[in-house]
Amino acid sequence: MANLYIHFPFCKQACHYCNFHFSTKKIDSGGMLDLINKELKIRASEVKAPLESIYFGGGTPSMIEPKSIKSFINSIKVQFQFIPEIEVTLEANPDDINEDYLLNLRSAGINRLSLGIQSFFDEDLKLMNRAHDQKQALESINIVRKYFNNYSIDLIYGIPYTTLKDWKKNLNIALDFNPPHISAYVLTVEKKTALDFLVKEKKIALLDEELVKQQYDLLIKKLEQKGYINYEFSSFGKPNYFSVNNLNYWNNKPYLGLGPSSHSFDGVSIRSWNISNNHQYKKGIESGKLLIEYEELSKKDRYNEYLMTSLRKSEGVSLSYVEESFGSTYVSYLEEQVSRHLHKRNLFWDGNFLKISNKAKFLTDGIAADLFIV
Ligand code: SF4
Repeated sequence: MANLYIHFPFCKQACHYCNFHFSTKKIDSGGMLDLINKELKIRASEVKAPLESIYFGGGTPSMIEPKSIKSFINSIKVQFQFIPEIEVTLEANPDDINEDYLLNLRSAGINRLSLGIQSFFDEDLKLMNRAHDQKQALESINIVRKYFNNYSIDLIYGIPYTTLKDWKKNLNIALDFNPPHISAYVLTVEKKTALDFLVKEKKIALLDEELVKQQYDLLIKKLEQKGYINYEFSSFGKPNYFSVNNLNYWNNKPYLGLGPSSHSFDGVSIRSWNISNNHQYKKGIESGKLLIEYEELSKKDRYNEYLMTSLRKSEGVSLSYVEESFGSTYVSYLEEQVSRHLHKRNLFWDGNFLKISNKAKFLTDGIAADLFIV
């Protein structure tokens, strides 16, 4: 199965923590989507299997007119085979949500929404420079629930000046809506963002790492109590509501990324990425000369990536997969490397699968890196 990712590179304003590619210039959303559609036609032959998911991310794709989304989805469906139950997700910000918009999105073919709530508190939203406020956050979920049974609420933990109690309140508000899916991301300071500048200037003080860990631990505990499955480090779904797009990404399935800055993967060893510049992207498409860079992953890279992505998933690392795909030398190396973490109960064997314990989950990326072949 294959997946399609569309990066829409515009936002109303810049969130202080964000290092994704986007522009806040006044836009012609249909014009950008037309360019992306041209890229789609040029690269269609890269998709070798029926589509299982389409994901509109960004940027802020909820700034796109539903009629443009509809004709884009129609164009995809004419050109590709897809499974009947294909998941079609759009990332939306609360300030773009209203009843008409959602009705039109639904008839355009969107069947899943990922709602960027981030926090239910105005002080957090202001600190992060989000475009919406608490009232819009609450209202948007009430409207979304009327039109979509498959939706996700995105939250951020580790926000400066928040306590464990604040985070608990945020989680309780989210859980009161009983959403089928929640994604929760830690606030990280990315280079050259406004947050990076504010921290360096000592205008914002970051939370202590131990408190961030406590917030993550609370997240797992509360959501598991409410019947969510933590199927991937940041992703929690009720049964039958795991995101196909997320899972396929973490399972290293092939995906074609369209639009400025989007990444693609052939499902084996080739990664590629589009230029992160809207103007040059446009020039490239118009001249028929796409500005894409490629890299080929070595066997060692693929092994390291497999460890990283698998440890993040509840399924864990499959020893038989390592044996089949990389050979017995890699199995012996892995068995040697894990002993320290088995001893500390950070990792455990569940039959043929190596998994991370709840107490060590917050440290997943660091533990995976310890097991890498360098
Ligand atoms: S809306 Fe999303 S993509 Fe745009 S600046 Fe904020 S976090 Fe980044």
